[in-house]
Amino acid sequence: MKKVKSERVKRTEEIKLPQMLDFYPLEDEKNTRISLFFENLKEHRLTTTKCNSCGKLLWPPRIICPDCMSDELEWIDLGSEGELYAFTEMRLGAPLGFAEDVPFCIGIVKISGLSISARIDNAKYEELKIGAKVQLKIVELEDGRVFYRFVPSK
Ligand SMILES: [Zn+2]
Repeated sequence: MKKVKSERVKRTEEIKLPQMLDFYPLEDEKNTRISLFFENLKEHRLTTTKCNSCGKLLWPPRIICPDCMSDELEWIDLGSEGELYAFTEMRLGAPLGFAEDVPFCIGIVKISGLSISARIDNAKYEELKIGAKVQLKIVELEDGRVFYRFVPSK
């Protein structure tokens, strides 16, 4: 298994607006019932929940299965390598806090049977290809929060 990269990133603007407009969620146990997702990210593991009643793999991670309403869920590792299914480049209109990062790439990554949207770092739009392998990357904010992105596999 390849080593997962991580990077400390700065938020480019002070967020003074309501928390709802902050791209990065509040990740601790006090604020979310999926805090384990973020704890796992801190260990460089991308995980989600799987329903033990109907077997459905859920993304994003849930506390109750939306298909069968069971709360018998277990945490599953998704691995660290995916495949680029689609991508585009953000040139303007970036979410709050990302205006200074444009242009940057975002995509849909197929990983462990799921399609998840993510930022694609270390990539130029012109050089990306559908079907290319991408590797999980963890970004850490100065306040301790974490999030996932992907980078092209070498
Ligand atoms: Zn279910």
